[in-house]
Amino acid sequence: MKYAIGIDLGGSHTLAAIVDERGRILSKFKRELTAHDPSYVVGEIAKVVGKACRALRGKNLVGIGLGSPGNIDGKSGVIRYSPNFGWHDVPLGSLLFKKLDQRVHILNDARCAALGEYEHGSGRGTKDFVLITLGTGIGGGIIAGGRLVMGAAMGAGEIGHHQIRPIDGFVCNCGKTGCFEAQASGTGMLRHALALASSFPRSVLLAGDPAAWGSKMIREAMLAGDGHAAATWDRWLADLAIGVSNIIAFVNPEVIALGGGAGQADKRILAAPLTEMVDKLTTMSPRGQTKIISAKLGNDAGAVGAATLAFRGGIKALR
Ligand SMILES: [Zn+2]
Repeated sequence: MKYAIGIDLGGSHTLAAIVDERGRILSKFKRELTAHDPSYVVGEIAKVVGKACRALRGKNLVGIGLGSPGNIDGKSGVIRYSPNFGWHDVPLGSLLFKKLDQRVHILNDARCAALGEYEHGSGRGTKDFVLITLGTGIGGGIIAGGRLVMGAAMGAGEIGHHQIRPIDGFVCNCGKTGCFEAQASGTGMLRHALALASSFPRSVLLAGDPAAWGSKMIREAMLAGDGHAAATWDRWLADLAIGVSNIIAFVNPEVIALGGGAGQADKRILAAPLTEMVDKLTTMSPRGQTKIISAKLGNDAGAVGAATLAFRGGIKALR
């Protein structure tokens, strides 16, 4: 059996997973990140990779992959821009090479997750697949004709920042108004709840502190019959449908998987009504041809995808 190390780098932690060639995680090593300067982050990554390498001693390690937030030049391993870390032009690849004496293949974290789901999760068996991660933001990755779409400057797949409500939408973290991310992420759901609050004075959500609201809480309140939560869910679902139908118009995938916390709801309240709404908004592409499902790998998608990147030999091999 062959193995790769998949590293998931987030704003608050870094994790290295030992993954076998069938996409199974054998073990994980995690460290919290308390600062964001590159030399510290590289040192923490080296610690989790060191633990994984020791655990793998004597086994066949094929390579190391890493998923990081931001726009990344995958060939040189330079993080051009990462708002999560406040980084501009950080040569993460060469810093890691100096520290580990081993090449680390680097790709945007959402694209890594899409690659992981495509090869080992909800996209298995397809050639045209899109992962939409509905978390605090919206990340995504597009596989078309069996290849991960990266674009001319590694910017393809930034589906969170296409505008769906440019006139009356919420202001997005990126500065635009009504981005798909601002409207349909888990955070977008909370913003819909806040916007609707004054119409529902007896809402069960309002009995608690809005700072503690989460998409799961809203979903549970809706299922328990709360009108505020139901109206929130409807608005959120309507915005999600616009973005999903746009993606179908652009790339006509066989499967769209919804990842992240907000993507894990029962199909009766998420995938089924969403599919119906998306069909109404699908005009020129054939209707009813894209399966909308929940993603399967959960929080492991990024690490499994980073390992998949290493198994495949990095960005050059993907192109
Ligand atoms: Zn945006």
